[in-house]
Amino acid sequence: MKMIGMLGGMSWESTSTYYRAINEGIRKTLGGLHSARIVLYSVDFEEIEKLQHAGDWDSTAVILTQAAQAVEAGGADFLLICTNTMHKVAPQVEAGIKIPLIHIADATAEQLLIDGVKKVGLLGTRFTMEQEFYRERLTQRFGIEVVIPEQSERELVHRVIYDELCLGKIETKSRSQYMSIIANMANAGAQAIVLGCTEIALLVEQQHADIPLYDTTQLHCEKAVRLATALEPSHC
Ligand code: GLU
Repeated sequence: MKMIGMLGGMSWESTSTYYRAINEGIRKTLGGLHSARIVLYSVDFEEIEKLQHAGDWDSTAVILTQAAQAVEAGGADFLLICTNTMHKVAPQVEAGIKIPLIHIADATAEQLLIDGVKKVGLLGTRFTMEQEFYRERLTQRFGIEVVIPEQSERELVHRVIYDELCLGKIETKSRSQYMSIIANMANAGAQAIVLGCTEIALLVEQQHADIPLYDTTQLHCEKAVRLATALEPSHC
């Protein structure tokens, strides 16, 4: 079994989901007492969040690249960055290591294409919804059209992520607000919704929605399990 490298702590609420989902996937695939071989580097999110909101992405790239190098030195065969937002600096991190980086948007888009989904609504931090690094990857590499919520809705989605979900707070009111934003994107033609923040599935589950939800955390973990168990060929 290959060793899975993880950059976590962004936030640890979702890293804990990753840890469980990957181990459950390995147990389901290999049976018995099998569990995942993992090297996890968990950062202090307060530091990262301050740099994000100050727009100092270069400093976040330095921190994450050093962490990724530590994960590589620890024996990982490939790397997951366990947050959608921090894939903004994925190119810098990738350039600093020799092991492959398994991009969360690719893991998600591959499943969307298998399911024939061509137009999605995207929920995530403002950085993920508004900037090009994530949407363009879906559009240019995979031909998937992306709609995003309107500005006031984006602000609400962003605030709930940082002020509630990353602190482990699950509020019913926020769930209803997310559901109406999801309904608006469905009305705008989205065939499915990408939960493009690794904490959103803590708030919104498929049972709450009429439209298919694609949980990036789950899809990232499933891909990691396939790679680790060689169900999916890789060059790592
Ligand atoms: N985990 C979140 C994401 O997937 C947000 C936290 C962060 O800014 O990294 O984007």
